[in-house]
Amino acid sequence: MTIASKLPAVGTTIFATMSALAAQHKAVNLGQGFPDFPMDAGLIELVSKAMRENHNQYAPMPGWMPLREAIAEKIKFLYGATVDPDVSITITPGGTYAIYSALTAVLHPGDEVILFEPAYDSYIPNIEVNGAVAVRLPLVYPDYRIDWEAVRAAITPRTKVIFINSPHNPTGAVLGPADIEELRKIVANTSILILSDEVYEHLIFDNIPHQSILRYPDLLERSFVCFSFGKVYNCTGWKLGYCVAPPSLMKEFRKIHQFNAFSCFTPTQVALADFLKNKEAYLSLGAFMQERRDYFIQLMQPTRFELLPSHGSYFICARYNQISEEGDLAFATRLTQEAGVTTIPVSAFYADGKDDHVIRFCFAKKKETLEQAVERLLRY
Ligand code: PMP
Ligand code: GLN
Repeated sequence: MTIASKLPAVGTTIFATMSALAAQHKAVNLGQGFPDFPMDAGLIELVSKAMRENHNQYAPMPGWMPLREAIAEKIKFLYGATVDPDVSITITPGGTYAIYSALTAVLHPGDEVILFEPAYDSYIPNIEVNGAVAVRLPLVYPDYRIDWEAVRAAITPRTKVIFINSPHNPTGAVLGPADIEELRKIVANTSILILSDEVYEHLIFDNIPHQSILRYPDLLERSFVCFSFGKVYNCTGWKLGYCVAPPSLMKEFRKIHQFNAFSCFTPTQVALADFLKNKEAYLSLGAFMQERRDYFIQLMQPTRFELLPSHGSYFICARYNQISEEGDLAFATRLTQEAGVTTIPVSAFYADGKDDHVIRFCFAKKKETLEQAVERLLRY
């Protein structure tokens, strides 16, 4: 049977492709973003306890209420916002699902979504599968900042959403207060919505405060803000996250969610309702990951890779001009095959495959893993 594809330009995601290649060549996998160190044993114990205590049936459609309450408290503590857990927070099977659901809730065919490239690879297919149009603006290379004048010029009567991501995957760029000011000015007195992917909210370095949309009531009233527990608690395989939005937007979000996943795995929600009260567990994450970033930068110094700045996320990008003139996919493929180190070609984050000859390394790894990878890169 052949069908007319809804996403004709889409192949298999680069993360699946590169992880399969890494496994095939027994390479050190610094490609797909996931930690290789164990998650907190206390949190695992809380999940087992929840299962033993019979929390094994469907959770409520919007999520386990004590977890939503704990999230609301955390939001108040971190960002000063008062968010009603009953009508403004929904627990989702991961951050990606939250983003997809938000877009699907609001986009009509022909609507335009302004987003910035390089962009995480699910964003554009999520827009296009809804019949909407991705208006792609380049982040300004090499520091990957937003050109707000270009945003102003890209706005049309069809602009439905501006889509931001800070800390940013793949570049590690972060938005500052001046960016938020620009965004505020641009959306004021319009009906433009904001989708903010903040899955790396705690993975921010160098004492830079995270510019969450949750800090700004005038922005929050028009936003979907998406988070991932996988990133906060080193358990990406849990695929658990949440979305925060004002009640009118969340009502539409739940219409999509209730007929898709309906609800999420209950034992982890019960466990996290307790674990979220431990502030240190999330407050310490930035310093913990910064140490890995700094260690990786130090290890990479004698190599011929030129690392670009990274202020957040799991990732740091690098130029490889001194080693090869190949395109980034060819280079990353060869690096896996010949050096035994897997990375992600950054062209995968551009709809038109724009290739600046940059690859992305994930440093959310044990120090031994980083050492092993760099030892191989040094020999290459
Ligand atoms: N957004 C970005 C930018 C990401 O890197 C990730 C990580 N996969 C996600 C969203 C989604 O996270 P999750 O695994 O919770 O779906
Ligand atoms: N967010 C992860 C990354 O950027 C990948 C998640 C996935 O494989 N879908 O590497």
